[in-house]
Amino acid sequence: MVKVVTAEYSGVCFGVRRALKMLERSVKQAEDENRKAVMLGPLIHNPRVVDQYGKKGVEVVSLEDVCSGSIVVVRSHGITLDIEKKLQEMDEITVMDTTCPYVKRIHQLVSMRSEEGFSIIVMGDKDHSEVKGIASRIKGDYIVVSPDFSDEGEKLLAEFIKNHHKIFAVAQTTSRPSNYNKLLKKVRKLSIGSGGSFDFAKTVCTATLKRQDAAGELASRVDAVVVVGGGNSSNTAKLFAVVKERNERSFMVESPSSFSDKQIRLLEKCKLIGITAGASTPDDQIIEMKEFLEKL
Ligand code: SF4
Repeated sequence: MVKVVTAEYSGVCFGVRRALKMLERSVKQAEDENRKAVMLGPLIHNPRVVDQYGKKGVEVVSLEDVCSGSIVVVRSHGITLDIEKKLQEMDEITVMDTTCPYVKRIHQLVSMRSEEGFSIIVMGDKDHSEVKGIASRIKGDYIVVSPDFSDEGEKLLAEFIKNHHKIFAVAQTTSRPSNYNKLLKKVRKLSIGSGGSFDFAKTVCTATLKRQDAAGELASRVDAVVVVGGGNSSNTAKLFAVVKERNERSFMVESPSSFSDKQIRLLEKCKLIGITAGASTPDDQIIEMKEFLEKL
């Protein structure tokens, strides 16, 4: 029989748990007051959770579709300043802002430091909603640097530092600390070279750090690892990269039905399987996976 071990700190983090509780409160409030609760974009990057709420009548809408009287639930990754202002201008809506306090802290930091004259480096995925929200609050020049930046990216970074003498850096909360440290080292060296000043904030979320460390440790002592989470979740993808580095037999899936036959055959040959899960994976999805693997 296969033995299945779940890594410590797997699954829903403080921010997502808080967001889900706020969503649940909004659904209740909508029922009590005969109003409609909507999500402004998927609340978290977990299609199964979003579908579950869809069935309860909580639709995912864009700003243009928000109707008067709605309770609008704002996602845990945060929204851009522009959208925030537009929501404030709308009549007769209630905004339930679930933006994680750690993300809010970055909003405040970049807004404050850019007002002080610092130009900002944001390490992260430029297309991710968290990074868009952060960038929208910068009141001056900034550059978004991808964690695995290319020669071209490095050139752009060097150019940016050469042209800006006060630099402040932050990273998307779900970044890998090793990537951020590498970037900080590079920026420090370039800033000193150009005679400028450089400061940074530690913005990588500790929940992510602990989850990645525990998953990495587990991955090195099991036959295979299963990472449970939404295919569109950035932190799940990064978690998968961490375990894959330690264990070639690593799989990232949303649910047991996502496995291919080939993957199942491989898992059946294992004696010890590790499970970990991204920050937006609720406990019931981890339990479901554990029970499925134990029956192999
Ligand atoms: S991973 Fe960290 S920053 Fe992101 S929602 Fe969770 S607690 Fe907040």
